[in-house]
Amino acid sequence: MRSLRLTLLCVAALLAPSLASAAPEIRLVLQITVDQLRGDLPLRHAHQFGKGGFRYLLEDGIWYSNANYHHANTETVVGHTSLATGTIPAVHGMVGNVWLDQDEDALLYNVEDGRYDLLTKGGGVDRSREIDPTQRVARSQGRSPASIMTSTFSDELATRYGADSKIFAVSVKDRGAIPLAGSSGQAYWFSKATGEFVTSSFYADRDPDWVNEWNEARKPKRYAGQSWTLQRPVEEYLFGDKDDRPWETDFPGYGRVFPHPWGDTTSKYFTTLLTVSPAGDELTLDFARTLLLAEGLGKDATPDYLSISFSSTDYVGHLFGASSLEMEDNLLRLDRTLAELFELIDREVGLKHTLIVLSADHGGPEVPGYLEELGQPVAHVDPAIVSAETLNPVLREKLAVDADLVRSYFHPYVYLDRGAVASAKLDLAAARQAVADHLMDLPEVSNAISATAIESGRLGPGPIPRFVANNHQPKRSGDVYVVFRSQEFINDFDGLTVAATHGSPWRYDRHVPVVFAGRRLKGQRISRPVTPYDIAVTLSQILGIEAPSGAIGEPLVEVLR
Ligand SMILES: [Zn+2]
Repeated sequence: MRSLRLTLLCVAALLAPSLASAAPEIRLVLQITVDQLRGDLPLRHAHQFGKGGFRYLLEDGIWYSNANYHHANTETVVGHTSLATGTIPAVHGMVGNVWLDQDEDALLYNVEDGRYDLLTKGGGVDRSREIDPTQRVARSQGRSPASIMTSTFSDELATRYGADSKIFAVSVKDRGAIPLAGSSGQAYWFSKATGEFVTSSFYADRDPDWVNEWNEARKPKRYAGQSWTLQRPVEEYLFGDKDDRPWETDFPGYGRVFPHPWGDTTSKYFTTLLTVSPAGDELTLDFARTLLLAEGLGKDATPDYLSISFSSTDYVGHLFGASSLEMEDNLLRLDRTLAELFELIDREVGLKHTLIVLSADHGGPEVPGYLEELGQPVAHVDPAIVSAETLNPVLREKLAVDADLVRSYFHPYVYLDRGAVASAKLDLAAARQAVADHLMDLPEVSNAISATAIESGRLGPGPIPRFVANNHQPKRSGDVYVVFRSQEFINDFDGLTVAATHGSPWRYDRHVPVVFAGRRLKGQRISRPVTPYDIAVTLSQILGIEAPSGAIGEPLVEVLR
């Protein structure tokens, strides 16, 4: 009996390695994020894609066509951190691109960290040229993931493999790279001030030589004096006869119609305009290629991690809209950028040794003018209706006080002046409820939910309050969360008027693609509902490592099989 058991054990031991080696080892996890890529957009343009890019993912990947976030504030850092941590902002803590720091009584930009500086002199935000209103909030140039309250997939990879696992994240945006790099990896992002890829002293004391060499080559200069032109004849586009639309942003010198001139290196917005075109993604890929080769990613049996977040789709969506000739050409050019990336990965690592996952940080709405033209009932919300100037007189009357109780509104929260509420001997819950009640009387508002209602479990019925609660971190979130109706839009932030703005809990902002490919996965289209929180958990399961500390996603069985 005993010898039989021993024999069986020996047989099992012999079988085990061969079973393990049936699947090729994963040498590289490649996580791609396309900023503002709404779930339906790649499918709308599927017939136009060439070989090897989106077509590879559509035909050979496991494509989830019904993946939706379950949090309300569909903004960049919120989505990127959810992808990195496999959880909702209520848990990972990144509740918005900007929130009010109650201790400092100041607005805080999500990844700013005054304890650090950039390694590149002058590489920080140049307020005179920065068009991103959230970036302008930052009071210091240093950046770090310190505000993220849970571990990331990249952190867990490092926990398992230590320094043997090389972990990098690249994006045009700091907030597109830092959450994915986590605390253990290394993040690089594009400085619009200098045209270089930069990083923070949080990550390292000095840049490696390959970073300096890439920056010294001044690659953005290639685009100087040139324009963003159409990739193919105009009649081949769905929106070919719709280039000049009145609602598109007429950025000075860039215009609403092709060709869009980038200007030369001395023009004030040269590097900014590169990011509002496929050139931003091309530069991101170029930097990532240099990184992959110089750092030797995917060269041994220890899995490495590379995150690339492509930002152009977001900027193009904001300025021109989802259904524009600019978005169409941007996606066709992104398709070529992806094809180049996959070819590089296949050559250097082998697709069978690579696990690819592509998703987006959020979707995006259609431009109100476009919907209006189709006869749909849309409206523009006057941002003044949620301003402190408007709300304070209302509260003074409602609560019979002299003080100004509302400090400010910054999407998506109304922030009360808690000191003023206390001095007026008012109950914070009552002040919050008074704001919420007033906002609920406005026709533009669908939901106004006080933090007290969330924290005491008195949520209203339906999914929207639940998505708002999923966004609620008690130490960070504001006092009242405001949701506008799904066809009412605020497209004016900080004086910058754009064609479209995301950040709502509506389906168009929550719907993103989730695709897994590489590693001999077989092509499938899956329509069952899943979430992007499932990604980090699925990656952890496949690699046999611990999932991030706050992860709530579920493993995607089609990928595990
Ligand atoms: Zn955006």
